[in-house]
Amino acid sequence: MSNSTVVVGAGIAGVACARALTAAGVPVRVLDRGRRPGGRMASRTLSGRVTDLGASYLTAADDSPFTAVVADWVSRGLARPWTDTFAVAGPDGVERTTSGPVRYAAPGGLRSLVADLAEGLDVVQERAVSRVEAGPRVDGEDVPAVVLALPDPQARRLLPDDLADRLLGEREWQPSLAVALGWDERRWPADLHGAFVHDDPVLEWVADDGDRRGDGAPVLVAHTTGDTAAAHLADPDAAAPAVAAAVRRVLGIDAAPAWTHVHRWTFARPADPREEPFGRVDGIGACGDGWRAPSKVESAWTSGHLLGTALGAEQSR
Ligand SMILES: Cc1cc2nc3c(=O)[nH]c(=O)nc-3n(C[C@H](O)[C@H](O)[C@H](O)COP(=O)(O)OP(=O)(O)OC[C@H]3O[C@@H](n4cnc5c(N)ncnc54)[C@H](O)[C@@H]3O)c2cc1C
Repeated sequence: MSNSTVVVGAGIAGVACARALTAAGVPVRVLDRGRRPGGRMASRTLSGRVTDLGASYLTAADDSPFTAVVADWVSRGLARPWTDTFAVAGPDGVERTTSGPVRYAAPGGLRSLVADLAEGLDVVQERAVSRVEAGPRVDGEDVPAVVLALPDPQARRLLPDDLADRLLGEREWQPSLAVALGWDERRWPADLHGAFVHDDPVLEWVADDGDRRGDGAPVLVAHTTGDTAAAHLADPDAAAPAVAAAVRRVLGIDAAPAWTHVHRWTFARPADPREEPFGRVDGIGACGDGWRAPSKVESAWTSGHLLGTALGAEQSR
């Protein structure tokens, strides 16, 4: 039997959980199938620079312990306050602006923040877990406890049906496509920051990636509606022309992008996230943005942190 608690998933929830366990003195190993930590806080090098292809930004409520994490990132230059003002666009173009909480972005891409949080932890990348059972057992090995820090449909695949039903129930998750579009020069207003797109069959949101990352690169990242994503899950690249046309129409851009890149998120967000902070059944825990509604980076961190804190208090007794 391994003496390490296993966390499956090195997104921000899994890493926050592992950090809380480590702080309580509990040995923990994080297993992730990707090449690098980050999950849906995904950044990829496109056309010579890092571009955010998952979450667009993060928020931190004043009364949340996540605020201290974000403040530390800001103090070290890893995160930066981006904006509190976005445009709202409709079928006929940009109509107005709306203000809200400060949104934070990362000069090195949001993935760099999860990588920073994972520093010093025992994280094994390119390790896809295939079976988690009562015991608990992870791929046939007995462990003190296991945490599934994954979207529900990905967690369900690992579990026997009865356990999945008791831990997770049946919940729908929605897809999205993130489409990066690069031009030779900026062709939209400097104060756009980002635009929520209403009543559009293709687009939900467009972010100015050069603005949020602070290098001014002429790159936008558009997120599609769930319906558009669902229609293109088998061949996401085929959505690029329609997305480019929609972005040009909504923002009034008079030239085609020089390049595009499509990233498919089959499980982008839960249709109906739970209010509870995390789930636990038979030594198996579940956390992430399917818990602690609404679904967002801050909720995922909080869910993982609270589950890790609870497990840490029990296991270090
Ligand atoms: C397009 C898009 C836009 C978004 N925009 C925003 C935004 O602007 N602001 C905001 O706050 N939030 C946003 N979000 C939501 C935010 O990204 C998530 O809430 C958060 O990143 C979820 O983190 P997590 O740790 O719960 O899950 P994930 O980040 O999904 O982490 C799960 C991890 O599990 C790993 N994994 C999966 N299966 C296995 C397996 N079998 N074995 C081992 N590892 C496995 C994956 O590789 C992944 O690293 C957005 C999400 C998407 C997709």
